[in-house]
Amino acid sequence: MDIKKISSSNILESDNFRKELFLQYEKMGISKEIVDFVEETESSLKKRFEKIDNVSEYWQLRIVDAMRKNKVSEACFNQSSGYGYNDLGRDTLEKVYADVFRTKSALVRPQITCGTHALAITLQALLRPGDRLLSPAGKPYDTLEEVIGKRPSKGSLAEFGIGYDEIPLKEDGNFDYDNILKAVTDKTKVATIQKSKGYQLRQSFGNDKIGELIAVLKREKPDIICMVDNCYGEFVEINEPSEVGADVVVGSLIKNPGGGLAPCGGYIVGKEDLIEACGVRLCAPGLSREVGPSLGLIQSFYQGLFMAPVVVGSALKGAILAANLYEKMGYFVIPDGKEERKDIIQAVHLGSAEKVIAFCKAIQGAAPVDSHLMPQPWAMPGYDCDVIMAAGAFVQGSSIELSADAPIKEPYAVYFQGGLTYPHAKFGIMNTLSALSSLN
Ligand SMILES: *Cc1c(COP(=O)(O)O)cnc(C)c1O
Repeated sequence: MDIKKISSSNILESDNFRKELFLQYEKMGISKEIVDFVEETESSLKKRFEKIDNVSEYWQLRIVDAMRKNKVSEACFNQSSGYGYNDLGRDTLEKVYADVFRTKSALVRPQITCGTHALAITLQALLRPGDRLLSPAGKPYDTLEEVIGKRPSKGSLAEFGIGYDEIPLKEDGNFDYDNILKAVTDKTKVATIQKSKGYQLRQSFGNDKIGELIAVLKREKPDIICMVDNCYGEFVEINEPSEVGADVVVGSLIKNPGGGLAPCGGYIVGKEDLIEACGVRLCAPGLSREVGPSLGLIQSFYQGLFMAPVVVGSALKGAILAANLYEKMGYFVIPDGKEERKDIIQAVHLGSAEKVIAFCKAIQGAAPVDSHLMPQPWAMPGYDCDVIMAAGAFVQGSSIELSADAPIKEPYAVYFQGGLTYPHAKFGIMNTLSALSSLN
């Protein structure tokens, strides 16, 4: 075999290949100008993408290490039903999660419906009438407002006589330590800290910054329980909030740690007594974590966790590409094109409902599933205004898959995230550029 001949005809370098690629994009409605614009920007991001690959590599090792240590075996994938007593797969998976997050215990269940449910379970498990909950880092995620009772709601913490204090961030986005310390009283039992920005135009917090806040809170009140809402933050940095002092860390399996394969579920990791309290709250006193069938879903939880580092890496590359493109087009983006990432969310301040809707329609149009559907702004449970959500996903509402959503209100920003593969994220972004350019 003539190796020289093979390497010199490297298909990736050949003009013929480029031509076919452009033709395929063109066939799918992406003009040559847009492909050129995106590829030029992409080629300037090689170094950053390399760094993301390193982070994926690091998490891949940590996850495989935890799976080896806990002797994950084929028997773990067996289906349990009914009460789910002695479910080896479920119990082993919880040990794997605890090791990955470097905590004592974990609760990882298909019975936890979503992120909001996992957060509600944790708050309801840890707070008792007369206690107060503190949000020291500004407003929590929209759906938590009803859990807390900030917006009156049936079954809220407020209905059970649990108080709530919220300290807004300072103008510069930093924690307002003076007012935080004033709000900590002997009644303050739990502090809730949200890592990701949610539907706010603020920075997402890095784990080290979260660690500083926790240290200040614990200096003031050593027994305060610090909970971190880790939704969208997993495996982005090289540590997790549980390694910087958080007592309990909570997230959704249809976001980062499910790797796009988990069809539902949530996780809560942390100290043993706190996780036991969550198990009791999820199920029933006396039964706690010993019941809960895995219903044949458990293999997807394992495999999703295994895939998660690379999937999160793909989503991050897509987010960085989008930030750089939209920044060049003159839009305000958070994070900006250069910033280090703390989560997979990219906010783009488009400034009008029309543009927000066009962006979401283009993401939907690029999807592998339901691409022919048109997302519309809609009143959603848990939100106080109409929300548009584009998610042509294999798992309903999964936002580790390429997706975009936006509350239809000022300042008209769209929140873009996910992408199980980088080429798909890239195509989705190109489709939004096409849609916006045809608006003008
Ligand atoms: C998505 C999200 C939630 C809620 O999760 P759901 O699965 O949609 O209920 C809570 N907090 C943050 C920061 C989120 O991004």
